[in-house]
Amino acid sequence: MIFSHKTRYAVDTLGAEVLRQVAAPVTEINDEIRSLAKSMTDTMNVFDGIGLAAPQVGHSIRMVVLGVPMDAMSNPPSPGEAELLPRMPLVLINPEIISAGEEFSERDEGCLSVPDIFAPVLRPERIVFRAQTLDGVEISAECGGLLARCIQHELDHLDGKLFVDRVLPGEKKQIESAMRRLEKFGSKHHYKRVCTR
Ligand code: ZN
Repeated sequence: MIFSHKTRYAVDTLGAEVLRQVAAPVTEINDEIRSLAKSMTDTMNVFDGIGLAAPQVGHSIRMVVLGVPMDAMSNPPSPGEAELLPRMPLVLINPEIISAGEEFSERDEGCLSVPDIFAPVLRPERIVFRAQTLDGVEISAECGGLLARCIQHELDHLDGKLFVDRVLPGEKKQIESAMRRLEKFGSKHHYKRVCTR
């Protein structure tokens, strides 16, 4: 009987067309959007992610969920981390980066859509972003640390970009064969990874 209550969660993987599309703005926060936000949050948690963008679950719209853990808070925290990490998981609708700082940092990234591949990506250390929450409230914050990186990674998804596109050429060579294997595997399995819980 227990088995009949299982839910199937799926994430689109490298090779899926939806990951390469520029996503459309959300025009109205309705029940459909709220229900998608809920299933995206569940999917992120099931796969142990810290962020997930709507295109990764097959919806080409500008919405992301973040689940950056409290223990990732910088010391001292940026204003955005102090304000937003206690509110995770957090849904961002039509998020935009308004400005980025001039300092860059490099850190290994991974992605639920690019399983088992990790590589360093250079990104601005601090950003200011704005978005709407699921309640339609406009928020804006200056963020650093893992939160700033995660927001940049998730917003890339909304423009059809993946972190592997940003890996520097020297490092890229090391992941190319793994990426090819992943795309080959994906073409057999419809570019989806599935988890049933
Ligand atoms: Zn990703």
